[in-house]
Amino acid sequence: MEDIPEEYIRKIIHVDMDAFYASVEQRDDPALRGKAIAVGGSRERGVVAAASYEARKYGVRSAMASAIAYRRCPGLIFVKPDFKKYRAVSEQIRHIFFRYTDLVEPLSLDEAYLDVSVNKAGISSASKIARQIRAEIKNEVSLNASAGISINKFLAKVASDINKPNGQKTIMPEEVIPFLEDLAINKFFGVGEKTAAKMKSLGIHRGRDLKEWDLALLKQEFGKAGQHYYQIVRGLQKTAVKPSRERKSLGAERTFDRDLIGQIEVESAFNDIFEIWYKRLKEQAMPGRTVTLKMKSQNFETISRSKTIAMLSLDRDTLKAAALELLNNSYRGEAIRLLGLSLSNFDPENNSSSTQLTLKF
Ligand SMILES: [Mg+2]
Repeated sequence: MEDIPEEYIRKIIHVDMDAFYASVEQRDDPALRGKAIAVGGSRERGVVAAASYEARKYGVRSAMASAIAYRRCPGLIFVKPDFKKYRAVSEQIRHIFFRYTDLVEPLSLDEAYLDVSVNKAGISSASKIARQIRAEIKNEVSLNASAGISINKFLAKVASDINKPNGQKTIMPEEVIPFLEDLAINKFFGVGEKTAAKMKSLGIHRGRDLKEWDLALLKQEFGKAGQHYYQIVRGLQKTAVKPSRERKSLGAERTFDRDLIGQIEVESAFNDIFEIWYKRLKEQAMPGRTVTLKMKSQNFETISRSKTIAMLSLDRDTLKAAALELLNNSYRGEAIRLLGLSLSNFDPENNSSSTQLTLKF
């Protein structure tokens, strides 16, 4: 059997909330539970943004004109979308992801890729992480999520659909090749409707048909995309999980020209950094819960220690006390090269790049 080169194998999870907007509405209004609902505009030109699973049974789909949806499902209940609420829930979910990895790439409010090849929990099984994440989402946000787990983003995304809703599917490295050979051509990343039609006309219906084509022929037929098709069908996708621009921490640090030696020098530098850091926090008005101290010693050994306080805080004395405690617990008299402080674990309401884009009129 062919082997996929190691540099193409990572542990990627695609998390996809089930009928997200509709599920949030059903969660918050018991009268909507178990009912066919559509989030969206009920008016003539309205469009369904999301449909509950009960509505999907009637063939109601997202992006469908509301008039058609209503015809398919005469009992359909329309609910006006509340994007502010969905955004807040989405942030809550994202913070669950951050417990495991900072490599989180949101695709929308209800979908994200996570790279857990190296993760904060030190769990080697990505399937186990996915299970934990889904359980935490259920416990803390009372919503169902599905997940796909595999070696790259494309496969993880295809996988998350397989046991939906409220399920997960792992495509193990050794399963990738046969899975791709069997996969319908329109499911491949980068194969849109037009390309799929063209491929079918060329006799390419599944991955295994695509594999019959050599690179030169694919390039001749599909131009630059030919290379992509050649690789993706062989499990060769390297696209990295790109973390969002969302601010996860706010810090200040300084590398010193000469080593700091002794308690007095270290404490004095610490106080300076605290002032710079605190000024930044005030400017950004971002209360947080976790204070982290970073210290690099002469032999370039870096230590990082965190303390999480009970409540979100921007209070000077509280933060100073937490930071000092970290310093006192960590400093052992060694010569210090670098000192830094940062705050994280921000209020999700306050901290979304998308929230910042919502202008208030
Ligand atoms: Mg979804």
